[in-house]
Amino acid sequence: MTVYVNYVTLHNGRVSAICEHCGKRSKSTTPGQDGEPRMWELSGWSSAPYPHDFKHDNGSTGSTWTCPACNKRLRAGEALPIRGGGWARQIV
Ligand SMILES: [Zn+2]
Repeated sequence: MTVYVNYVTLHNGRVSAICEHCGKRSKSTTPGQDGEPRMWELSGWSSAPYPHDFKHDNGSTGSTWTCPACNKRLRAGEALPIRGGGWARQIV
């Protein structure tokens, strides 16, 4: 069974966000509150804030992240699959 995560902690203690759509990994940031990446250190990325222990349908927990490329597609009106099931569409 695949376990989905929304960010990874690196051996140096920094954290990288993982795009919930394409799985792209962000550059690393210092961990913020709850140990999650800091969105303001990640240019072009967006985050949907969730409580750290919130469990999503795909098994991942906490805030979700969207990379700049996927944000562009969402803004253009495209619906993008979420890793592990489901779809996301930005309502404009
Ligand atoms: Zn992406």
